[in-house]
Amino acid sequence: MKEYDVLSKKLTKVVESHGINRRDFLKYCAATAAVLGLSELEFTTRVAQAMGTASKKPPVLWLEGQSCTGCTISLTQSYPPVASIILDTISLRHHGTIMAAAGDLAEKVLHDTVKEGGFVLIVEGSIPTADDRFCVVGGKPFKKTIEEAAAKAAAIIAVGACATYGGIPAATPSKGVGIGKILPGKTIINLPTCPVHHDHLSGTILYFLTTGKAPALDKIGRPVMYFGESIHDNCRRRGQFDAGKFLTDWNDPKQKEWCLIQKGCKGPMTYADCAIRRWNAGINFCIDCGSPCQGCAEPGFYADMTPLYTAESEISKKILAMRESGLIPKKENT
Ligand code: SF4
Ligand code: SF4
Repeated sequence: MKEYDVLSKKLTKVVESHGINRRDFLKYCAATAAVLGLSELEFTTRVAQAMGTASKKPPVLWLEGQSCTGCTISLTQSYPPVASIILDTISLRHHGTIMAAAGDLAEKVLHDTVKEGGFVLIVEGSIPTADDRFCVVGGKPFKKTIEEAAAKAAAIIAVGACATYGGIPAATPSKGVGIGKILPGKTIINLPTCPVHHDHLSGTILYFLTTGKAPALDKIGRPVMYFGESIHDNCRRRGQFDAGKFLTDWNDPKQKEWCLIQKGCKGPMTYADCAIRRWNAGINFCIDCGSPCQGCAEPGFYADMTPLYTAESEISKKILAMRESGLIPKKENT
């Protein structure tokens, strides 16, 4: 079957009405289909079907606790801008930052949707445990809102380091935690990194829209399709690590491409696909910009990963000890 048979005229019209180049959208579909374990044809057809069932738009609630709104920015700035298609395909009932309604009206929408049940709950930001008063939204402790909404949700997605495992707020007096800590027994799809990668979120939502279920998850709730390999597995400085060439002086041009482990890189103990997927429309990612991986896809980010630019953290010491004892094997052909 040819490409234009799959991507129906209607789908093409929708894609183009969002200012997305048809070729870019097909490229996105091909890449996303591969990680979701579907054929491109199957995936594109299912997306077309999901977009065609406008009357059955799945309701989505996006609730934000202790966060910087970086995950919202990440989603809305994705390229190609598939986020706008997803936002049209789902019924985003409540989102404190991008919804038009405010005040009592916004609270009513939230209340009514929770009462109705069966929605996808997306949470950005952590929950304070030191005192509920650290995060009160609409006059109610955020923790209580999350507990009530989770009880009626069809699926729960935590986005970003804060909502998944506590993130930076875990290192503050509020003692923020990820939502899994206050929702024992609930299945939560965790999409860490700081902020969430827009591909991880749009791919997970598309997976849910097209299959009706959650993708396969690892032991800490992350989709294996995005968090199955370590940063170190795919890092282009890996050959330098194996050869024992470690950058110690940022100003020495000779060391420019060397491994960043002495500068605090947590890549060997961080599982995420940044080295392959990259950020900013696939342009770059931390290590290729010359910054060590800070482990933002792992529980323990931020507090356990500090100090960030030296190898003095306990995690860095462990990585160096593992290397010394040969527990991090050399990669073949490096
Ligand atoms: S330690 Fe960091 S910089 Fe060095 S090879 Fe591994 S991931 Fe790359
Ligand atoms: S490379 Fe490391 S610090 Fe950078 S975004 Fe990926 S997981 Fe986070």
